[in-house]
Amino acid sequence: MSAPRASSPPRAIESPAELRQRIAQARRDGKVIGLVPTMGALHEGHLSLVGAARRECGFVVATIFVNPMQFGPDEDFTRYPRTLDADLRLLAGRGADVVFAPATESMFRPGHATYVDVGGVANCWEGQYRPGHFRGVATIVLKLFNFVQPDRAYFGRKDYQQSLVVRRMVEDLDLPIHVEVCPTVREADGLALSSRNRYLSADERRRALAISKSLRLAKQLVERGTRDAATIITRMQGMLAAADLNIDYIALVEPESLDSVAVLDRPTVAAIAARVGKTRLIDNELIG
Ligand code: AMP
Repeated sequence: MSAPRASSPPRAIESPAELRQRIAQARRDGKVIGLVPTMGALHEGHLSLVGAARRECGFVVATIFVNPMQFGPDEDFTRYPRTLDADLRLLAGRGADVVFAPATESMFRPGHATYVDVGGVANCWEGQYRPGHFRGVATIVLKLFNFVQPDRAYFGRKDYQQSLVVRRMVEDLDLPIHVEVCPTVREADGLALSSRNRYLSADERRRALAISKSLRLAKQLVERGTRDAATIITRMQGMLAAADLNIDYIALVEPESLDSVAVLDRPTVAAIAARVGKTRLIDNELIG
């Protein structure tokens, strides 16, 4: 009897032409096409999107592309984790039909000069702290939408502002795509899964927990009757500072417009961006 061979990982499609061919065939077969865009270094958060797509679509396309356009010059583009073989195995295990992992040169060819600039919800938070970030996101997402022409596209609530930016673009540019926003997947102790969590040392991992804890604190304060946003933010700040995190923003906002809320007498999104050492993490929760 021969020893079992380790199976080679499923193949990624690099060529846009081959991707188009596979999708055209799926469409001819009458399948609903679902798209899950990612930057790889996959975890259960990403895989939950693939699961949702698998349940709702006949043909699931996952993409892996670390998009240079959405990183600022001082950000972690070069050291962003790249784990293609492991990603391909995970995606095959969850039933993705096709994985598109293009080279940077085939996505942004010499002379590229067209960008998508979403206003409104893209201006605050990440838009402010990471200038050009959403321009990069919207431009690549529109290109992926054009390649795949999905019926449904899946995004995570973890990147809440990003999901609103994509929805805005879809609405404003009349794209015939249903955008599905899936719940944030967390570790058992509450930390939101993120590809960047792997940068954290053990001590930073412990301190990073203050982010999800302070979102929980906000929820509890509202449940116990606190309505004043400034009071809640002060308590959250205290918790983050005690863990020695550097806060970029803490915000309590109206879920659709991202306008600040002064009194929490309606559903409100609490959002945080904070740096643990060199690692910048974001998280959010619907509270109230
Ligand atoms: P990224 O690879 O970070 O660009 O993320 C790709 C997609 O996965 C985005 O739509 C994210 O919002 C989503 N995502 C990332 N982390 C999580 C998580 N913890 N739970 C659910 N979705 C997530």
